[in-house]
Amino acid sequence: MNSRRISVAIPVFNEEDVLPELLRRLTTVLDAQPGGPHEIVLVNDGSRDRTRVLLEEAAASDSRLVVVNLSRNFGHQAALSAALGHVNGDVVLSMDADLQDAPEALPTLLARLDEGYDVVVVRRMERKETIWKRAAYYMAYRLIAKLSNVPQELDAGDFALMTRQVVTTMTSLPERERYLRGLRSWVGFRQTAVAMPRAARGAGATKYSLGRLVGLALDGAFSFSVVPLRISAGIGFLSFLGALLFSLYAVYARLVLGRSPQGFTALFVAGTFFAGILLIVLWILGEYVGRIYVEVKRRPAYVVESIIRNTASRENA
Ligand code: UDP
Ligand code: MG
Repeated sequence: MNSRRISVAIPVFNEEDVLPELLRRLTTVLDAQPGGPHEIVLVNDGSRDRTRVLLEEAAASDSRLVVVNLSRNFGHQAALSAALGHVNGDVVLSMDADLQDAPEALPTLLARLDEGYDVVVVRRMERKETIWKRAAYYMAYRLIAKLSNVPQELDAGDFALMTRQVVTTMTSLPERERYLRGLRSWVGFRQTAVAMPRAARGAGATKYSLGRLVGLALDGAFSFSVVPLRISAGIGFLSFLGALLFSLYAVYARLVLGRSPQGFTALFVAGTFFAGILLIVLWILGEYVGRIYVEVKRRPAYVVESIIRNTASRENA
C-alpha cells in the first residue's frame, strides 16, 4: 500500500478566487500521504478569468500538477470526464474545485477503501444551500434513483474515491452524454458511502444555472432508464380505459335513461387535458430521440487544447 499513487481529478471553470486556497489545502493533504509521487489533474474548462494563468503558474512550480486545457467550456461533467481520462494514479479522488468537497476527507476515504472497496462515495449531509435548492436536490436524487435500473447512491455527487480500474472502466464507456455519478453506479464493483457535511463554496459563485441543474437531473432520469416511456404507456392505457367506460355509460344513458350526456365545458376540458398529456408524452419520447441524435453524431465529450506538466514539457494534444 505504501507505494500507492494518488491522483486527484478536478474540473475548474472560472475559479480564480478559490484556486490558491484549494491548491494549498490539497497539497498539504497529499504531502501527508505515504507513497507517490501523487498527482493533481486540473482540467481548465475554458475559463475566462485568470484561472488558466494561475494553474499554469502553479504547474510550473509543482511537478505534481497536470493542467489540461480544454478548447472551450464543455461543462462540469465533460470537464470531470477529461480529468478522469488523464489520471495515472492507483487510486483517484474526484472532487470539485470550489472547496465544497473538503480535501481533508482524503484519509477517511482511503481508510474506507482499504477495507476492501473499489468506490467510496461521499453522501452529502447538511448541505449549505438555500432551502428550495436543497428541496430540489432531495427530490431529484430520489426521483432519479426510483427511475434508474441500477441502484444509485442517494445524495451523492461526484465527490468520491475510486480505484484506477473503476475510473478506467468509466472513462472507456462509449457514450457521449456523461452523467458520471450514474455511470459510477452502473459500473458496479464494491461500492460504499460515507456521510459528510457539504461545505459552502470557498469563494466565487456557482457555475450551475437553474437550466444546467435541470439538464443534469434530466440526464440522470433519462440516461439510465426507459421507465418514463412505460409511464407514458400507463397514462395512455388509463385514458383509453376511461374513454371506454364513458362510452359504455353514454350508450347506457341513451338507451336506458333516455338522455345523452351533456356539456360543452366537460368536452373542452377533456379535450385540452388529453392534448396536454399527449404533448408531455411526446416530450418524453423527444428526450430519448434527442439523446439518440447526440449519441449517433459520435462527437467526443470534450476537446483537449494542451496539456501542461512542469515548465519544460508542453505537449499539444
Ligand atoms: N465546472 C466546470 N465547468 C462548468 C461548470 C462548473 O468545470 O461549466 C466546475 C467548477 O469549477 C467546480 C465544479 O465544476 O469545480 C462544480 O461547479 P459548481 O461548484 O459551480 O456547482 P455546484 O456545486 O454549485 O453544483
Ligand atoms: Mg460547488
